[in-house]
Amino acid sequence: MGVITKKIKGTEDVLPKESYRWQFVENIMREEAANFGFKEMRTPVFEHTELFARGVGATTDVVQKEMYTFDTKGGESVTLRPEGTAGAARAVLEHALPNEGLPIKAYYLTSCYRYEKPQAGRLREFHQFGVEEYGTSSPIADAEVISLASSIFKRLQIKDLHLEINSIGCPCCRPKFNEALKEYFSAHKEELCGNCLNRLEKNPMRLIDCKVPSCHEIAKDAPSILDFLCDECREHFELVKKYLKTAGIEYKVNPTIVRGLDYYTKTVFEFVSDAIGSQGTVCGGGRYDGLIEELGGQHMPSLGYAMGIERLLMVMDNQGIEIPKPASCALYIAGLGESAQLKAYELVNSVRKSGLPAEGDVVGRGLRAQMKYADKIGAKFSMVLGDNELAEKKAKVKNMTTGELTELELDENFAVKFASLHMAAEFEIVE
Ligand code: ATP
Ligand code: MG
Repeated sequence: MGVITKKIKGTEDVLPKESYRWQFVENIMREEAANFGFKEMRTPVFEHTELFARGVGATTDVVQKEMYTFDTKGGESVTLRPEGTAGAARAVLEHALPNEGLPIKAYYLTSCYRYEKPQAGRLREFHQFGVEEYGTSSPIADAEVISLASSIFKRLQIKDLHLEINSIGCPCCRPKFNEALKEYFSAHKEELCGNCLNRLEKNPMRLIDCKVPSCHEIAKDAPSILDFLCDECREHFELVKKYLKTAGIEYKVNPTIVRGLDYYTKTVFEFVSDAIGSQGTVCGGGRYDGLIEELGGQHMPSLGYAMGIERLLMVMDNQGIEIPKPASCALYIAGLGESAQLKAYELVNSVRKSGLPAEGDVVGRGLRAQMKYADKIGAKFSMVLGDNELAEKKAKVKNMTTGELTELELDENFAVKFASLHMAAEFEIVE
């Protein structure tokens, strides 16, 4: 039998040597979300296909072309989640969360699946941090969720992300806009791509952000939604801008942002980077006031967004933003001979119990190989235990950076004494 060494196209592994980068970004996301009053929500990786058809929208690229859908052995059609919002909304309804008070503020860190053409920044399994806020129509909420994204980017020290915002109206004003779009694009029918021709009747707003160059050129002169907004949508948009200004968040109004999913109303926005080529949208979202109703619930204005973690890490890489490597080993204890090894094992455990990472030999190596390994894993201190050390109940701990030796007694206070030595060295490094 052949060895299986190939992962599925469009998927990525996160290896032990690089997972700290993910953890760093995810921890900041969790902390900032908590600061803004959002709690984590976890939903299943697959849902009834019907949920996405209704929640994401039957005419969207995601539903028409990108979903991983299959029949189970029981004959049920299920789909791997292509995004997080529909599942979150389903859970909110299923567990009657609105009864527990509004707004509901939730976030998720999750994998998503889309059958797309893999390229830099575009995968078939990718990861999102997403935020959902249910039960508020206030423009303050729009500004709040955008501020949360902005705080995350600030803490990650990302520099060149531009916020672009737009309003795509509501069921009251959008039909007139759609009519105007149909009229405009119908006059250019011969020049449109097949995809746009199909969508012209059902979902003409999608033609505005078609990436095919000839369509893109035509879309440049298309009518602007901002000329069609009803009073309520216009006022909402003005207030969102006002609150963003108050929060000190810079933005640009871009009337061509319409977003790929059907459920959006009023505010839509994207954070875009110039640093990673054409897959530059790191975060996208907006309001979806009609979604909960679409899924069978009562009218409940809501909003949210998702950011792609792979794209975020790409931007950080590109900008040379250094992610601090966590301390992997504070003390390596090498033991020579059976009794010393047993003592080393005991001391390693006591240091671990005190909360510092410690390691000893688990392979059966000789002293030289053990010290080489200690160096390789970046141990801050090392200690060698042999018969002499056991007899004298003392051993020298070596600071691997400075070479300095400190003698410690091998008694029940060893871990405490090592911890203070370790802390003193940390302070020296900071000074
Ligand atoms: P795009 O226009 O790039 O296809 P989208 O509008 O389909 O993006 P959303 O559904 O809004 O994207 O998802 C939110 C974020 O998730 C995106 O801004 C992006 O950072 C990330 N994302 C979406 N699709 C992928 C993918 N296939 N691979 C990696 N990241 C993705
Ligand atoms: Mg897409």
